Amino acid sequence: MATPVTRPKRKNPVLRTRLPTLPPQARSRIALGLTAGAARGVFELQVCEDCGTVQYPPREACRACLSARLPWHPQDGTGELIAETRLHHSQELYFRERLPWRIGLVRLDAGPSAVVHVHNDVARAPVRVRVTSQLDRSNQAALIALPEHATPHMADDPELREMTCDPKFRKILVTDGKTAVGQAMCQQLVDAGADLIWAGWAEPWKKLPGLDTLASIPQVTLIPLDLSNERSVQVLAGEIGGKVDIVINNAEYHRAASISTRPGTDVARAEMDINYFGLLRLAQAFGPTLRARAADGPANAVAWVNVLSIYALSNFPAHGTFSASKAAAYSLAQCLRAEMMKSAIRVINVFPGPIDDEWNQLIMPPKLTPSALAQSIVEALRSGVEDVYVGDVAQEWFNRWRDNPKVLERELAR
Ligand SMILES: [Zn+2]
Repeated sequence: MATPVTRPKRKNPVLRTRLPTLPPQARSRIALGLTAGAARGVFELQVCEDCGTVQYPPREACRACLSARLPWHPQDGTGELIAETRLHHSQELYFRERLPWRIGLVRLDAGPSAVVHVHNDVARAPVRVRVTSQLDRSNQAALIALPEHATPHMADDPELREMTCDPKFRKILVTDGKTAVGQAMCQQLVDAGADLIWAGWAEPWKKLPGLDTLASIPQVTLIPLDLSNERSVQVLAGEIGGKVDIVINNAEYHRAASISTRPGTDVARAEMDINYFGLLRLAQAFGPTLRARAADGPANAVAWVNVLSIYALSNFPAHGTFSASKAAAYSLAQCLRAEMMKSAIRVINVFPGPIDDEWNQLIMPPKLTPSALAQSIVEALRSGVEDVYVGDVAQEWFNRWRDNPKVLERELAR
């Protein structure tokens, strides 16, 4: 059984932090389909549209009928571990640093067999297992066989902890503590075992609801942070930048406005200033130290979370300028991800549907509660995914957007 992870010892500040090593990153264009599924937390394999044969490894043509029509479909991953071994040598530095590796051959119920990592809680072969596809430290899909039923402390297994961004024992910056989402976020991170949480407060002189409750949580420290002010962001980075393991950027400016409903550009500018430039300021101030601490022992820097909006995918005209600012933030977040990937910091983009707050009052339910959004962010960190579409509305919009972005654009225009 996996040993529960314990609170890491305080680091000797004189010791140098090593650079992270990464598992091999090269994948073929077809194999990236596996990564695309893992990024959303789904184990997908190609299934032949002509004969129904499930394929693994990913390929250009069906192994049974040579058809080229091989769309990706979610799999339950059940199967039998039929053989296993322990690897005591590797030419790859990343693998060599973490020897030995338990690997095995799983015959999936869906048909194909796969060589996979085997979690240490899986009994000796032959045994039933559940294969999932996880993003590894290179942000590429890797298959791992887990026990058929969850075991205690399963997530604390070193191999699995490397692939995820579990908030347990980590130090986290939540950029906006004044909103209901920010406050729910802090509480749920505490429940998930976070070591320390800094909650940003743009106007510390203002007494806003929830401040006292938040300040009374021992793990939470309120700090002045205004994303529209470059100096404020840099001062904070100077103070705590070297300790933050996870950044959760939930600060946003949101008004229900389209092009013609509000004259002038003041609101649009304010939205861009927080939602887009705020992210840029934050990334420039906190990005370098986060990247430098990616191999900093068992409580290393691991993740950057952006709370975007499903409106980032396709403009929702009633909230047109807000949608545009979130689309800009989404594009920047993709750039941030590409830069962070080289240092094994995972950038998680969260796309919530309409949240049950004052700016979405005129939108029909279902709407997301702040605690449901906070819960799904904690889940995303624990499972180590990259993209999260939170709530029924966001899921449906995402599916429609993936199916045909033009059709979604027309539907939203009505
Ligand atoms: Zn076929």
